[in-house]
Parts: sequence; C-alpha cells; structure tokens
Amino acid sequence: MSDFDQGATKVVAIVNQKGGVGKTTTAINLGAALAAQGKRVAIIDLDPQGNASTGLGIDLDRRQITTYDVLLGDVSVTDALQSTDVQNLRIVPANSDLSSADVEMVSKSQRVSLLRSALNSRGKTDIDIVLIDCPPSLSLLTVNAMVAAHSVLVPLQSEFFALEGLSQLMLTIREVRQTANPRLGIEGVVLTMFDGRNKLAQGVLADARETLGSLVFDTIIPRNVRVSEAPSFAQPVLDYDPTSKGSIAYRALAHEFIARETA
Ligand code: ADP
Ligand code: MG
Repeated sequence: MSDFDQGATKVVAIVNQKGGVGKTTTAINLGAALAAQGKRVAIIDLDPQGNASTGLGIDLDRRQITTYDVLLGDVSVTDALQSTDVQNLRIVPANSDLSSADVEMVSKSQRVSLLRSALNSRGKTDIDIVLIDCPPSLSLLTVNAMVAAHSVLVPLQSEFFALEGLSQLMLTIREVRQTANPRLGIEGVVLTMFDGRNKLAQGVLADARETLGSLVFDTIIPRNVRVSEAPSFAQPVLDYDPTSKGSIAYRALAHEFIARETA
C-alpha cells in the first residue's frame, strides 16, 4: 500500500460537469494558496484543454510527458510532475493527447481506476495535497478522478441554473461510492465569480446554503478581473496581484480548507 491509500496524501477532485464555472481557476489558486501555507501541492491536469498547465506557465513544448502517459502509459505520477514558478506547487500537465484517452480507456478492464493506480504506484510521497482539475463532463476521465480521490470539491458559479447540474453530479458520486470508491467524500461546494450586488447571485448563495448546508464553504470567491487576467501572465492571481480581492479570497479558502481538515 502506498501513502496515497494510507491517507498521508489528500487527493481532491475538482469537479463540475459545466464548463466555465471556475474549476481550473480554483485548482491553480487554491493550489497556490495551499502551497504558500507550506503544503506541498501537486495539480493533475485532467482536461485535454490543458488550461491549468498553461495558466501555470508550462509551455506546450514542455508537455512531452503528460497526464495521458500517466493514465495509459507506464509513467508514474512522480516522473510526470513538473515544477512551476510557484514554490511547493507542481503539476502533471495535459495537452490534446488526453482527448482520445476516454476512448482508449474504455477497453481496459481497470478503466475506472487507472489514475488511482498511477497515484498509488509512486511509493513514498512528498506531496501533501493533490488537486485534480477535471474536464467539463462526467466522462471516464472525471470518474477516474473520483475513484482516485478522497473527496470532491465543487465550484459553483453564482448564476441561474447553477444548482441544476448538482443532482446529476451527486448521482455520479453515489455510483462511484457504490462501485469503486466507498470512501469518496464531499470536500465542499465553493461559490465562484460572486457579485454581491447581483440579486440573482445572492439567490444562488441562499439556495445553495439551504439545500447543501455546511457543505458550502463560508469563503466565497468574488468576481474579480485580476483573477481572469492572471493566467495570461502564467501566474496564480496570488503572485500576479497579491492584494487583489481574488487573492484574499483564495487565501481564505485555503485556510478554511485546512481548518476543515483538522476540525
Ligand atoms: P472551468 O475550469 O470550470 O471551465 P475556469 O476556471 O477556466 O472554469 O473559469 C472560466 C473563466 O472565468 C475563465 O476565463 C476564468 O479566468 C474566469 N474566472 C474564473 N474565476 C473568476 C473570478 N473569480 N473572477 C473573474 N473571472 C473568473
Ligand atoms: Mg477548466
């Protein structure tokens, strides 16, 4: 058994089958904020679009070894990890190779646990937290993330229909628990791109708190232009503009994440 199964490393899948809700932004910035608090963090880019890789400055020509090779080749997570400009933050990058992975994985008998096996094959770990940045679907890639994870973190964009997809997501979580990963927990739901002046956004927050209760993080990520600018400078917002509202919020989210863990 490896450290992953023994729980020395916490594995969190960042999931929402909707695109554009803040999964990648949360992977990068929660990752950077946890790293700043001394945690050794690894992001696994599980989206063929590779936005997390780009946002952390891993150019395409540095993506010779990717998540694809971890899933379908014989490459260990350790060998695929690359350092970033952020101390304590590493990433297994992705590129468009990953778009064919779903189809190629289907024929494997262990198709849902390929990522889990790859994480477990790495022996003694020097990683405290793995954040898996999932694609915008409940595909085999996302199921692999849920099977490998201890918990799921769900970014929820503060807009109409935000809660609609959640029942499908909860069904998938239940299925994964019943089949491949009984220990899968829900880390929490984090409201993203929140605009407090917007009545609709306030309604989404109230609805989320009513239906999901304490699963909703107290920390809310505001809509903040510095957050959306940061990836084009290949930086987390925490480095791009440390005093921005977005940076303050992601630091608070990291504190809350750690506090919940130890509570
Ligand atoms: P996903 O990974 O779920 O598809 P992203 O994290 O890529 O979503 O976010 C979608 C878009 O919204 C991106 O352009 C991103 O820069 C922007 N965005 C995300 N969070 C914020 C925020 N708090 N404030 C402003 N823009 C944001
Ligand atoms: Mg994304």
